[in-house]
Amino acid sequence: MNDTFKHQGLRKKLVKVIKNKGITDEAVLNAIGKIPRHLFMDSGFLDHAYQDKAFPIAANQTISQPYTVAFQTELLNIKQGSKILEIGTGSGYQTAVLCELGAKVYSIERQNELFKKTSKFLPKLGYRAKKLIFGDGYIGLKEEAPYDGIIVTAGAPFVPKPLLSQLKIGGRLVIPVGDDVQVMTMFTRKGHKEFEKEEFGEFRFVPLLEDKN
Ligand code: SAH
Repeated sequence: MNDTFKHQGLRKKLVKVIKNKGITDEAVLNAIGKIPRHLFMDSGFLDHAYQDKAFPIAANQTISQPYTVAFQTELLNIKQGSKILEIGTGSGYQTAVLCELGAKVYSIERQNELFKKTSKFLPKLGYRAKKLIFGDGYIGLKEEAPYDGIIVTAGAPFVPKPLLSQLKIGGRLVIPVGDDVQVMTMFTRKGHKEFEKEEFGEFRFVPLLEDKN
């Protein structure tokens, strides 16, 4: 696993790019500056790893755009030890960002191929999620609930109720909602049945799928 000065230089530039796009959280910027994103990508795209773009990974999925990863992470407002549930492990890049920020991470992936690949890969880089799970993100992970934050990294046609009910009071669900285009939406749990909803503009994700293939 190779992380060269060239890669480090390209990462510094990437950090500047996403800073210019409006990301201000220093801890998030540091994480992006530290994590070797090229190692999360297939060889065909290595040269592009430090462009601020999404790229294909295995199983017809994508590694999210760094700006989007930073944007969602910033909304989660992670503290050391925050308990975070991620839906859509994919390449594990977002998982690594959450680990880097000191979160206790639980992450669910519905594609077995990606689940297996990423489960082997993340520990090699020193990123140890509390649990990586092969399963359906629509139902969340009740046995470990409640969470300080839940992040959905695929486009959800609707907001799954179990995810809202697995938040702590004060906890946040950050979820892109919509079919072709998604609106980044954050729900903050104010009480047992009270949620505040905020919207943060349009993004594009691969779909959050309902049936296993
Ligand atoms: N966080 C990832 C983004 C991957 S793209 C990264 O940084 O690379 C979205 C991921 O969500 C894909 O891996 C896809 O397989 C997964 N996914 C789609 N529907 C899902 C579901 N219902 N439950 C869990 N994961 C799902």
